[in-house]
This record gives sequence, structure tokens and C-alpha cells, in this order.
Amino acid sequence: STSIATLLGQGERSFSFEFFPPKDAAGEEVLWRSISELEELRPTFVSVTYGAGGSTRDRTIEITGRIARETSMTPMAHLTCVGHTVEEIDDILDSLAAAGVQNVLALRGDPPGGPGTPWTATEGGLEFAAELVGLIRRRDDVSVGVAVFPEGHRDSTSLEADVAVMKAKYDAGAQFGITEMVLRASDYFGLVERCRAAGVDMPIVPGIMPILAIGSMKKMVELSGREMPTEILDRIEPLAEDPEAVRAEGIRIATELCDELLAGGAPGLHFYTLNRSKATREIYSSLAVNA
Ligand code: FAD
Repeated sequence: STSIATLLGQGERSFSFEFFPPKDAAGEEVLWRSISELEELRPTFVSVTYGAGGSTRDRTIEITGRIARETSMTPMAHLTCVGHTVEEIDDILDSLAAAGVQNVLALRGDPPGGPGTPWTATEGGLEFAAELVGLIRRRDDVSVGVAVFPEGHRDSTSLEADVAVMKAKYDAGAQFGITEMVLRASDYFGLVERCRAAGVDMPIVPGIMPILAIGSMKKMVELSGREMPTEILDRIEPLAEDPEAVRAEGIRIATELCDELLAGGAPGLHFYTLNRSKATREIYSSLAVNA
């Protein structure tokens, strides 16, 4: 496995794909089929999320370990502070190292009550992602990324407070950022500008999730405490009666967004695949840089 910080530092355009640990055998089959289909695109890295709690959490280590052993791809494991003591986090980091996983996305995690509910740290655990970054960076062979938010995290009191949090993560040793799903390219460019002005000098990769269906997209945007831009709703809502047309327009919107992000200097694209490969492959092959 390889350090993502090094890969991003080489200045080549990065493409990465995110997966989540499936809950059952059918989901497992879908996941590994998608992984092997997306491997053909030779991504810079792939990442696997960490569950909010329960049985899928160990699966993040298993799946990233298997990617390290059985594929040509560089895996990154997400890890959160939710429900863990510092000792437990250290054990997980040992397991990841043993599995050959050298890249971690260090997150606080959402409050156990769900996004938007009050956060309380676990006793003997960590309060904020910046502390997790610091804990992980004590190991010199692990590369660490963090979550960043184009419109600010939903619980941030202001964009200034949000920048201070990014700065704290950077000062603790974060080497790159991955954004929450970008809705408008201008939000991403604004975020990068705020970071640079604050001296947060790390690559920030925009997160991409196409609209494939109206209902699921609205729910996703709501969970992040934001609103769907009207310029997107104006293109999607007239098609509401025709799911195929919604999907096609969603792919077009995402492709335009990706082109705009790359043209404006984004170091790469991070696709939220939801464990499927088709939409990501469609967007990837339509990008101006791949035409
Ligand atoms: P933090 O950086 O700790 O910030 C959390 C909140 O606390 C923010 O509102 C921040 O402003 C505030 N804050 C931080 N530090 C301070 C301070 N010193 N003083 C006061 N306030 C402070 N969740 C999962 O459960 N599993 C995953 O795998 C996962 N993957 C993700 C991947 C990406 C790319 C992104 C963008 C998000 C992901 N999430 C995941 C969701 C994430 O855990 C939540 O958004 C969470 O609410 C915030 O995590 P964070 O790491 O940004 O936390």
C-alpha cells in the first residue's frame, strides 16, 4: 500500500471512489463486483466508510485489508471517535497496520442521535476529529485525511469557526481533505480560498455524488443541513415523472460540476459510489479530461 498524501503531493490528477461496508451477503457481492469494475479505471485510491455503530465497524478493517492484499488499489479506512475509548482506537490502528492499510480518514462521526442532534464524547474517548488526527499522526507510517465542508459543517456557528476547525485539523497533522458532496463548484472554490487564507496548505479533493433519484437526493442534502440549489431543482423537478430522465440529467449535472471543478484547479475527484459502479463510470468517461 502507498501513502495517499504522497500520491496527492505528486501533483497528478487524483480519482478516488468511496464504498461502505454492506450489511449482508447480497450487498457484499454487489460491493466486490463494483470494486473490480472500478479497478479498471485505475483510481488513485479507494476508501471504505466507518459505521455509526454495530457490526459493520469491523468490516471496514476487513474490506480495506482485502483491497490491500487482493487488488492493485490503495485503500483508505475511515475511522470515527463515536463510541470508542482511546485504547480501542489504538487497537483499531494496530489492526489496520497489520492488514496493510496505511491511510486513514480521521473523523469525529455524527452524534449517536443522528446529524443535527447534540454531540457528547465517549468517556475515555475523543471530542473532536483534530484529536484523532493527532493520535494517528503519532504513527509515522500512516497518512491522514480529514472531512471538510464546502458550506461549513452543519453544526458550525459560522464559516470562520469552520475554518478554525480545519486549521486545527491541519495543525494536528492532517495531510489532505475530502469534502462533503459538493452542490455548486463556487462553494468548493470558496472553501479552498478560505483554507489558503488561513494557511491550511493541503490538497482538498471535492466529493461528488450524482442525483440518481429525487427522493434520495433531497434526503441526503437535508441530512447535511443544506438546501438543494434552485438552479439544480429547476433542471431536475420538471422530470419528476420520468425516473430515467432524472437519472440522465443527474449524471449530466454531475459531469458538468466535475469538469468545472477540475478546470478550476481541483486536485482530483472523490466519488461517493454507494457501492455501485455504473454512474461513476458514466461520469468518469464523459469528463472533458478523459474525452
Ligand atoms: P470535527 O472536525 O470534529 O467537527 C465536528 C463539529 O465540531 C463541527 O461542527 C465543528 O465545527 C465542531 N468543532 C470541531 N472542533 C471544535 C472545537 N475545538 N471547538 C468547538 N467546536 C469544534 N461519518 C461516519 O460515521 N463514518 C464515516 O465513514 C464518515 N465518512 C465521512 C467522509 C467524508 C468525506 C465526510 C465529509 C464526512 C464523513 N462522515 C462520516 C460524517 C462526519 O463524521 C460528520 O460530518 C461529523 O458530524 C463531523 O465529522 P468531522 O470529522 O468533520 O468532525
